[in-house]
Amino acid sequence: MPQTDFSELPSPPSRAAPPGFAFINSYAALPANFFSRQGPVPVANPRLIRFNQELASELGIDWQVLDPPTLASIFSGNLMPSGAEPIAMAYAGHQFGQFVPQLGDGRAILLGEVIDRSGMRRDIQLKGAGRTAYSRGGDGRAAVGPVLREYLVGEAMHALGIAATRALAAVATGETVVRERGLPGAILTRVAASHVRVGTFEYFAARRDLGAVKRLADYVIERHYPDLKAAEHPYLELLRSVAARQAKLVASWMHVGFIHGVMNTDNMTVSGETIDFGPCAFMDGYDPETVFSSIDGVGRYKFANQPPAAQWNLARFAETLLPLMDSDANRAAAAANEVIAAFADQFEELWLSGMCAKLGLFTREAEDLELVSAWLELMQRNQCDYTLTFRRLCDAVEAGGAAEAQLCASLVHPGEYQQWAPRWRSRLAREPQTAKERAASMRKVNPAFIPRNHRIEQAITAAIERDDFAPFEELQLVLARPFEDQKGFEAYAAAPQPAERVLQTFCGT
Ligand code: AMP
Ligand code: MG
Repeated sequence: MPQTDFSELPSPPSRAAPPGFAFINSYAALPANFFSRQGPVPVANPRLIRFNQELASELGIDWQVLDPPTLASIFSGNLMPSGAEPIAMAYAGHQFGQFVPQLGDGRAILLGEVIDRSGMRRDIQLKGAGRTAYSRGGDGRAAVGPVLREYLVGEAMHALGIAATRALAAVATGETVVRERGLPGAILTRVAASHVRVGTFEYFAARRDLGAVKRLADYVIERHYPDLKAAEHPYLELLRSVAARQAKLVASWMHVGFIHGVMNTDNMTVSGETIDFGPCAFMDGYDPETVFSSIDGVGRYKFANQPPAAQWNLARFAETLLPLMDSDANRAAAAANEVIAAFADQFEELWLSGMCAKLGLFTREAEDLELVSAWLELMQRNQCDYTLTFRRLCDAVEAGGAAEAQLCASLVHPGEYQQWAPRWRSRLAREPQTAKERAASMRKVNPAFIPRNHRIEQAITAAIERDDFAPFEELQLVLARPFEDQKGFEAYAAAPQPAERVLQTFCGT
């Protein structure tokens, strides 16, 4: 993605509400208790860190008429584009298992919605835009670190083909936010299919406002699952559809070693997009027990627990819908239970077919699960880097000998590969594809580049300590093409040196 080139842009427009956006807001037209009307709190000295031209064009934003200071003003909340109807959304949520009846956008302001080039409705939201009715004790702001992290990881996820909220802009506010120390403030402009969460449903269900739950469910069906309008049991089907998208999403996380870190119900969208990149991280060495988040002491959201955590959240979602599903509570519960129970198999199937593709298989056989499991156990015992080792397997398929020797050399117990590989080889031999074809298809699902934690930290440190955004820019560029071997950028594919390893991540809120 090219960096913004403003050299040929026309002179700045007037400071009146700038054109460029075609907002068509539907959430702000819902009942008043769904949100609080609220503008962003202006900031001292906004400066554009990055503007995502490609995404802006996809959203149909006429950004070419806007110069960098104007973009900085808009995406800091200092200047309202015409048609915006700023609101903070109400929601609740189960946080680490505990129900909190009121959360809501404590630092995010939804400017409005646009219809993108493919006809999809997308939210444009400023995160870090000041205090709202839902801020509780918080300052409503974001520090530059979490903003850069969310920008990098969200965009990297998208490039990896994983559903995720996107980053349209990052703006420095010119203000200091106080965390464990004073840090430069920033605002992220987030783009989402919508910001409706499981916690949004819980907000109304907890208030026994069944009318609002129904209104919200109908809104979500209209916006995300329009085919369900004609269904005989639309609310049960809504649960089934959300479960299906979550199964696919979490499977795709597991395929690339992504750990979300805070899978609370307020951080689970009903659209099926990954949202909130607070303490998230990609695993380096493969270990299903991996936990990064400093606030996840018991490992509730560790790598291996992500599928059951999603299922648990879906059960909370189901509870909010039960009264809409059937007037007979027992029948409703039985139907919902069946959907929730089915999630495990549905996830397993998606996960396994993705893992088989990572091993280069085009078909499925009964023993494939065993082959995959043996490989994962080998990787864990040998402290293999999850990403690099799968990528080396692509080379092993294509080039054999030397590439396999390199793979073996990276293992603690090289003999284990010699034991496992013949099984794999004989399985591959039962398919007609050439080694070249197989390697090519493997390289489309086994990325070379992931947003490694130590690289993110380096980019953030340069921004904080030296006001230097070059490492962020370069990392962002590399991560935009994760499946290509990029000459000259090999260092970004490498696992961290022991001293570089990041063992813990922080919400930074
Ligand atoms: P998160 O951990 O980012 O998912 O946020 C959980 C809740 O805390 C949400 O209601 C957020 O809006 C709120 N929150 C997080 N950080 C802040 C902040 N700096 N100021 C106000 N509210 C916040
Ligand atoms: Mg959140």
